[in-house]
Amino acid sequence: MTPQDSLDRFASAKLDVLAASQRRRTFSHTARGADLIAERGGRSLISFCDNDYLGLTHHPAVKAAARAALDRYGVGAGASRLITGNHPLYAELERLLARLKGAEAALVFGSGYLANAGIIPALVGPEDLILIDALGHACLFAGARAARGRVEIFPHNDVEAAEAILIRHRAEHPRCMLLTEGVFSMDGDRAPLAPLAALCARWDAWLLTDDAHGLGVVGGGRGSAFAAGLSARDVPLQMGTLSKAVGSYGGYLCASAPVIDLLRSRGRTMVYSTGLPPATVAASVAALALIADGAEGLCARPLALARRFTEALGLPAPASPIVPLIMGSPQRALDGAARLGDAGFLVMAIRAPTVPPGTERLRLTFSAAHTEADVDRLARAVEHLL
Ligand SMILES: *Cc1c(COP(=O)(O)O)cnc(C)c1O
Repeated sequence: MTPQDSLDRFASAKLDVLAASQRRRTFSHTARGADLIAERGGRSLISFCDNDYLGLTHHPAVKAAARAALDRYGVGAGASRLITGNHPLYAELERLLARLKGAEAALVFGSGYLANAGIIPALVGPEDLILIDALGHACLFAGARAARGRVEIFPHNDVEAAEAILIRHRAEHPRCMLLTEGVFSMDGDRAPLAPLAALCARWDAWLLTDDAHGLGVVGGGRGSAFAAGLSARDVPLQMGTLSKAVGSYGGYLCASAPVIDLLRSRGRTMVYSTGLPPATVAASVAALALIADGAEGLCARPLALARRFTEALGLPAPASPIVPLIMGSPQRALDGAARLGDAGFLVMAIRAPTVPPGTERLRLTFSAAHTEADVDRLARAVEHLL
């Protein structure tokens, strides 16, 4: 048996296990157009599963900025940011991010995943304690694992349980981080940031919020810390992504000047990875300018449309533009997605291990680019599933 044979046998056996538990994933070709219209499988569907909360992936000013940067700086960054990949647009983007968050400084990474995978191990190590909300994103866990510290998971949004961990273990560790999301990606609820910040202040724990789904849609677009009435000192590590409401690509951290300065040297996923394409950074700059402008209530619209939907169906009021419809089994979630597809909507079945087994769901996301009529039609189609 050659290594190729044993490798293929390993991969095939793994695939069989995944298929047996309905966890095998496949790609579907999807061509996204403006206004969240997606062409898939020969059908034209209105997508309620994008994270393009403000419709900025197709905004004319954002596209024009990307085109201009492409012509001026070329397609790729050429090298990492510490070599020649730090084109001038980065400084503009980081200035905008820091200002929007009220932080001293910001640092842009290749993606949100890379940001967490780099930030956490740069700040804590094997001697340290890391607390993570049980529903935290996979990249928070990846960063924590890379730090090789003591990782303690607390039940979702349970501040008392987090405190119990601190009471038990904080004194044994020189440094401590607490990791949570501002808006939870699969449930759409928010973290109790004010009590968590107070807890972290009592125990000298560094609070990191992953606000991938908060920027642009809560707190007038400035994110969950701002929505909770907190300052950059209360939440000293605010990270997020430029790939959701901002409509582009990349990850960021907003923090104090010394922290950002340290990460410029020690954020390995930034140091050892090529800079973002200039057009991507330019798109983020243009999109953030629109968010900061807040023109025509842009940032409030996704949540308003989510509320219109939940009110139509008598569901609990949403805390974000993410509305989960728990179906309870992989098959029910898949069937629900298929039926909504027949009604003209693109909606994803979210299954384990992305969410806990038994909570398989349809995850609906609302965007400023949807119309009220789209939302009303979706509500009528969902009514038949519940
Ligand atoms: C999407 C997401 C990320 C990853 O961001 P990318 O820029 O897509 O890598 C990180 N955290 C959360 C909570 C997310 O939803």
